[in-house]
Amino acid sequence: MSIRLRLTLTYSAVLVSILLIFSATVISVLHWALIDSVDRSLDETVNEVIRSIEGPNIQLSRQGEPTLVFELPPELDIFRASNVFVQVWTHDGRLNSSSNNLGGYSAPLDAGALTTQEQTRRNVVLNGFPLRVLTRPLFVSDRIVGRIQAAQAISPILEAQSRVTAVMLVAGVFAFITSLFLGNALIERALRPIETIAEAASQIATGDDLSRRIPYSGPMDELGRLTVVFNATLERLERLFNAQRRFVADVSHELRTPLTVIQGNVDIIRRYGPDNDSLDAIAGESKRMARMVGDLLLLAQADAGELPLITQNLELDTLVLEVFEQAKVLRQGGATVQLGRFEPVRVHADPDRLKQLLLNLIGNAFKYTPAEGTITLSVWPDGPEALIAVADTGEGIPPDDLPHIFERFYRVDKARARKQGGAGLGLAIARWIAEAHGGRITVQSTPGVGTTFTIHLPRQIPPPESLADPGAALRLARQQKRPASKGVDAGR
Ligand code: ADP
Repeated sequence: MSIRLRLTLTYSAVLVSILLIFSATVISVLHWALIDSVDRSLDETVNEVIRSIEGPNIQLSRQGEPTLVFELPPELDIFRASNVFVQVWTHDGRLNSSSNNLGGYSAPLDAGALTTQEQTRRNVVLNGFPLRVLTRPLFVSDRIVGRIQAAQAISPILEAQSRVTAVMLVAGVFAFITSLFLGNALIERALRPIETIAEAASQIATGDDLSRRIPYSGPMDELGRLTVVFNATLERLERLFNAQRRFVADVSHELRTPLTVIQGNVDIIRRYGPDNDSLDAIAGESKRMARMVGDLLLLAQADAGELPLITQNLELDTLVLEVFEQAKVLRQGGATVQLGRFEPVRVHADPDRLKQLLLNLIGNAFKYTPAEGTITLSVWPDGPEALIAVADTGEGIPPDDLPHIFERFYRVDKARARKQGGAGLGLAIARWIAEAHGGRITVQSTPGVGTTFTIHLPRQIPPPESLADPGAALRLARQQKRPASKGVDAGR
């Protein structure tokens, strides 16, 4: 069963149930109110009759029993004119007196009630006429001397009641049929966007076209939000899918070049025998491939969250100093490495990964800075952050390329970068390491002037207890006052 049919039926069933309960309540209240007014009029009549039965109307029999010798006074016109019938019965079941409007009718209005000791109100049908009958016993010194029965026709009430019931029934059937049609149309209209979504989704699934979006021009209600979320999911999927496709294409492309070089050189060796140039080329390309596969593996592990950081509290300035020493060794006739702003700052980090990050940046700086240029390493605290900067006076990066350089396989000048041995993965790894530490990496560059990469890491602020220890506070103050060693030349 479709949602539409289910909703329509549920909606109509609820409506009909509410109407039924409402009708039943109205009919019951109407019945109760009308019968109550009849009861009140019967009560008044019986009270009137009792008032007119005074002392002389009760006489003692020879056996000393009180007996009713009452005659309904003709001046009680009220009975003649009204539609209330009255009978006065003696305790032994003889009709003592009756209202004129009964004519010669002498049978009891409610025969069953003439034997009861209590007052009763009952609905009876007399010769086909529905009546409401009140029977009240008449007591003289705790003895029943007679019974008064007053009755009124209730056919108008029953008629009104059946008319109201009929009207309610017709209205109910009409409401049910209307709700079926109207509800169906309304629900269909409300569900139409869902059908559009389902249709678009199935077209996307069958056509493998992630660039399609679901058109929606309605209000931002639940369906509007669903469409927006669905479209956003599609957009994300499309981006991921394209990235994946580009990634596979890039990897194959990157691997094809060294493989071609290796294959070419193997052919040369086969033909002319081994020579040093071919062997060097094969060794160089194999090294490049191995490095690239290593980098890719590392990024894949990072993506899968399988590359845990082994963190510890460390002095970042000491770590930068160690990297500075390593950079001097790596220089090999390249640009000069020097220390810039150098202030103590503590972080909680993985020292090996931070070194890897810095060496990637320094490696790039060497690659893109001429031998007469300089590479400056700086470290300092800045508010809640610890900053490390690697600045070079190299060729710089064009502004159009700047936003992309952290993407995998992105290189400004592919041919040149390849010659330098880069596959465009170094900065992607650097960014992952910075972000895995809860930090980030930024870059400023001016073509022809130089490039500065800055790593922002969360700084470890000394706990307040160390300030409670005056010795520690003094040491900290002294540490902070230590002058920054600037412009340390590396190997000139
Ligand atoms: P690669 O291994 O090719 O160097 P990276 O991801 O490390 O890859 O860098 C991406 C690109 O960013 C490089 O190809 C290069 O064009 C540019 N780049 C990175 N560092 C510098 C720098 N210090 N100066 C100029 N360009 C740089």
